Amino acid sequence: MTSSTTFEFTQIGVIHSCYTEKFGIPRQPGLVEETTASLELLPPFNREDILDGLEGFSHIWVHFVFHKCIQEKWKAKVRPPRLGGKEKMGVFATRATHRPNPIGLSVLKIDKIHKHGKKIFIDLQGADLLDGTPVIDIKPYLPYADIKTDALGGFAPEKSAPSQVEFSELATHQAISYEKKFGRNLLSLIKQVIEQDPRPSYLSNTTDRHHGIKLWNTNIKWLAKEDHLLVTEIEVEDD
Ligand code: SAM
Repeated sequence: MTSSTTFEFTQIGVIHSCYTEKFGIPRQPGLVEETTASLELLPPFNREDILDGLEGFSHIWVHFVFHKCIQEKWKAKVRPPRLGGKEKMGVFATRATHRPNPIGLSVLKIDKIHKHGKKIFIDLQGADLLDGTPVIDIKPYLPYADIKTDALGGFAPEKSAPSQVEFSELATHQAISYEKKFGRNLLSLIKQVIEQDPRPSYLSNTTDRHHGIKLWNTNIKWLAKEDHLLVTEIEVEDD
């Protein structure tokens, strides 16, 4: 019987994103357009010629490491949130993070490529990546090969419908002052993130329970009401 081999890879970059903790990160790329994320190429890969030709492509495949799951054991069967946590599927039929090799893959739109001194950044739209995520490779998205018009979506055939999100007066006021101070699109980002209803499946039917998510240096407090999700308060960490 052929046995498996172990390989070693080199990190080529790191993600800087608005998601400073796992809870709340969209479950797939492209779901939250307001996400801000940038891939910084690390030495010795921070050279402009390494990107020659990429300017003609709109999207890239980003191969990354689920670095916050490395200590956790992989599982052959997992409970996809899409199935309400009630059913188990084989891990290779899912995008779950607890995989034999903790490697993730996201197709992301390139916003802009820019340089700051010796640093090179690729700004990306709609990322589903934690701040600090190590990147091991990027490749151009090739429409002629990668678009599959006959593809089937298995147990996740389409996007989940967004939940209704509302803001308390206090939260609206806090978000607006944050936007003025930091020049960041906080209000629309919070709306799009919470619209995805990040609650774990076992809490998805509970109401009036407080939840928190972190975006950049803010702690957003929100709770589920009968028919909407209410953002109650926004704390700024180093204010
Ligand atoms: N699109 C990728 C894929 O299919 O491989 C990721 C899908 S995975 C379900 C997305 C989730 O991974 C996010 O919601 C977040 O909780 C988690 N995640 C993102 N970056 C991570 C990291 N660096 N370490 C651990 N978990 C991470």
